[in-house]
Amino acid sequence: MGSTLTMEKAKAAKKFIENHYRAQNKNIQERKERRWVLEKQLASSDVPEEERMSLIKDLEQKETEFMRLKRNRMCVNDFELLTIIGRGAYGEVHLCREKKSGNIYAMKKLKKSEMLSKGQVEHVRAERNLLAEVDSHCIVKLYYSFQDAEHLYLIMEYLSGGDMMTLLMREDILTEKVAKFYIAQSVLAVESIHKHNYIHRDIKPDNLLLDKSGHMKLSDFGLCKPLDCATLSTINENESMDDTSRDSMDIDATFPDAGNGHSWRSAREQLQHWQRNRRSLAFSTVGTPDYIAPEVLLKKGYAMECDWWSLGAIMYEMLVGYPPFYSDDTMTTCRKIVRWRHYLKFPEDAKLTFEAKDLICKLLCDVDHRLGTGGAEQIKAHPWFKDVEWDKLYEMEAAYQPQINGELDTQNFMKFDGANNATPSRSGSGPSRMMLMPNDLSFVGYTYKNFDAVQGLRHSYDVEGKDDYICLGI
Ligand code: ADP
Ligand code: MG
Repeated sequence: MGSTLTMEKAKAAKKFIENHYRAQNKNIQERKERRWVLEKQLASSDVPEEERMSLIKDLEQKETEFMRLKRNRMCVNDFELLTIIGRGAYGEVHLCREKKSGNIYAMKKLKKSEMLSKGQVEHVRAERNLLAEVDSHCIVKLYYSFQDAEHLYLIMEYLSGGDMMTLLMREDILTEKVAKFYIAQSVLAVESIHKHNYIHRDIKPDNLLLDKSGHMKLSDFGLCKPLDCATLSTINENESMDDTSRDSMDIDATFPDAGNGHSWRSAREQLQHWQRNRRSLAFSTVGTPDYIAPEVLLKKGYAMECDWWSLGAIMYEMLVGYPPFYSDDTMTTCRKIVRWRHYLKFPEDAKLTFEAKDLICKLLCDVDHRLGTGGAEQIKAHPWFKDVEWDKLYEMEAAYQPQINGELDTQNFMKFDGANNATPSRSGSGPSRMMLMPNDLSFVGYTYKNFDAVQGLRHSYDVEGKDDYICLGI
């Protein structure tokens, strides 16, 4: 017993040290890069010598500040929690204010025990890594991540325009022009994560957030919900391969006429049904499978292309009003996705242009024929996007201008009851030294601080804070 503990401790120490040195090297590299970028910018401009010196001095001062910030151990008490703006399977998202700087952020709080028990540790790590690595205006920006005994925290920019799900619920359907704006921005966002070799796998309207000017950013890199692990084991590939063998399947009992589109329920009824259900679907721990690619559901082995499928499903929803494989229960939706050849239909009264339908069909298809398999350029070159100026998308005026009154406004988010809002933070009593559960090795190296968090901060600490180290009690 005792020796197991010793071994775990040794393992933790090793992991900590490795992480520490890797992080330190990265820091040095990044610092050099920032200096290099500035010098390069200055060299190609005609800024007078004196001003140059002062800009370099500013940068160096910021670097010092950043080093101090890095040493400083952050905790949830550094933030004032304001309103709950989101609630998901593993925790909540709060609007919050950093006490020291007054800056407003969104705080995503994940319960460690939930992540461990549901086998989500790798996913949490992926989310943290992606956010820290990919610096793109299409991706929600991460300022800090840290942890205490019970929770992991991500401090992100607050995107006050709300999410795409809320926008779609308000608008029913979008015109092609508006849909094109959001889909085009999504294409750029997906492209930017693919460039860093990440696959999102869970792109859906509630993970597409709008900033205050109405531009879209991709968020929620927690990857999959438990859905694809347990519930779907009953789906097998034959269902997708053999479209003629459907006689014996219960899906046909549910949808006697499913092969002919949604004729068992009119398009209008389907829309109303979807609208009544989507909120609860989004908040269920299972999540909605409506946008997941068939190869992901089948656990066949999948690659980047699965994200392009999801965009196809979102585009369909934007133009038709409900997603292409929607049905009353998630299991049936999964089956319809897997047998998409049968179930992908456009309702007659949906007036889509030929190009729009063509693009959707080229995204909602098997991997070999799917647009985007050879890179985002294939999608960008599709005729539906012909008038899109890709380089200017984030500079132009957004399709909708969100209504926002002040930086604390949360009118674009659902109201959540505050039941958990007042949960006192436990870290008030200092770092948790009891944390010696071997499993907590899982979260070593979670801490992150973004250089851009320095602006407007005045830190006057000199505490040698070693978050992960202290949390492990080693
Ligand atoms: P989950 O994994 O539980 O789906 P998300 O990261 O998608 O967690 O967050 C849930 C919801 O919280 C989102 O759909 C969105 O409405 C809101 N939200 C998340 N992050 C932010 C943010 N940075 N700014 C504004 N709202 C956010
Ligand atoms: Mg989400």
